[in-house]
Amino acid sequence: MPIFTVQKHASSTLHYDFRLEIDHVLKSWVLPKGPTLDTHLKRLAIATNDHSLEFSNFEGIIPDGEYGAGKIIIWDKGELQNETYDGEKLIAIEKAYKKGKIIFSLKGKKLNGKFTLLKTNKNKNWLLLKYNDYYAKNNYDITKEMPKSIYSGKLIEDIE
Ligand code: MN
Repeated sequence: MPIFTVQKHASSTLHYDFRLEIDHVLKSWVLPKGPTLDTHLKRLAIATNDHSLEFSNFEGIIPDGEYGAGKIIIWDKGELQNETYDGEKLIAIEKAYKKGKIIFSLKGKKLNGKFTLLKTNKNKNWLLLKYNDYYAKNNYDITKEMPKSIYSGKLIEDIE
């Protein structure tokens, strides 16, 4: 089963890196506000550099002067299931990515259920939306309620 991960990253600005395993790499988006389970919210997701699959296990500090310098925690990680259909037919996730509309389910420690990533007409900008399913939770800020690493139990401030 392919994976997803969300890494909380305190670089020049605090953000969340949302990564989906597509085509043997982690396709990545920067979420300035992080993910949400609230179906009323649209979260900006800015496409950024692919990362290797191994990077999903990285928690620690990227030294000053290097790309992405700053602290990182593994905020969530789990299974990714493609659910992008055209009628009855499942569209390969690689193709869905290229077309700019990916529908998928996550099975993580924090994020669960169905989501979609939609490319906007503004180059690198996508939107991340939560479907209204069993796991949707409106008026709830999961990044505030569940701030810790699923790997170490640490807050990002406590990484050293
Ligand atoms: Mn980042």
